[in-house]
Amino acid sequence: MIEIKTASGSNRDVHRVGALNTPQRLGPVAIIFLGPPGAGKGTQARHVANVYRFPHISTGDVFRSHVAKKTPLGLQAAKIMSRGMLVPDEVVCGMLSEHIRGLGFAGCLILDGFPRSVAQAKWLDRFLYMRSGVSHDLQCNAPAAIQISIERDQLLRRLAGRRSCPTCGRTYNLYFQPPRNPGICDYEGAELVMRPDDSENVVRERLMIHDQNALPVTEYYLRKGRLLEIDGNKAAEAVRTAIAVELESVFALARA
Ligand SMILES: [Zn+2]
Repeated sequence: MIEIKTASGSNRDVHRVGALNTPQRLGPVAIIFLGPPGAGKGTQARHVANVYRFPHISTGDVFRSHVAKKTPLGLQAAKIMSRGMLVPDEVVCGMLSEHIRGLGFAGCLILDGFPRSVAQAKWLDRFLYMRSGVSHDLQCNAPAAIQISIERDQLLRRLAGRRSCPTCGRTYNLYFQPPRNPGICDYEGAELVMRPDDSENVVRERLMIHDQNALPVTEYYLRKGRLLEIDGNKAAEAVRTAIAVELESVFALARA
């Protein structure tokens, strides 16, 4: 586990200095959700987007939509993936840029699944600056990164405990939401199955790869004083409340 400074300490002071020194107090230009698979960041990001009426941008969705619509970038990505290669940043960032411009929305963006590397994080800073014209030196306007941290054992139970019904599609979790009868769907009695992706070995591998890629991104936002750490071990409702409290203080500083 990595130790991350929370916003209750020096980070918040940095925000406050920015707010006092500038007449531009618009609030963050973007809220970025970071966290491992299984941390619930998609759910939390969608919730924040609904509450504040900001667009929720899932890069996975944007990517799939470009590929499905066979846009020039989508075709390029599909070609690269068919060769088993990683889609380069310029293609990923290009898709995101087109999507955001297409929204016709000037306010704060909710980003889910992006950035995945420091290069992408730097690109995002430049893109957001050009889009808003607001300098991120003013900490109250800088993108806020919400890191949902969660213990490894808890994550393994969430991911490797998943089972689904091949007949009706209902999902269960052996630890948190078990069926009434072990291994049997409550609805029509079909035998539950585990996706190959959810086997413990595959899950451990996925989490290890995620950690390797995510750590430099987390450190990037930590160094910039923009990281808000949320304890993701609690129930979704408690996590939602903790995020709301942190964001409220970010927006309050922008209003101050
Ligand atoms: Zn079923």
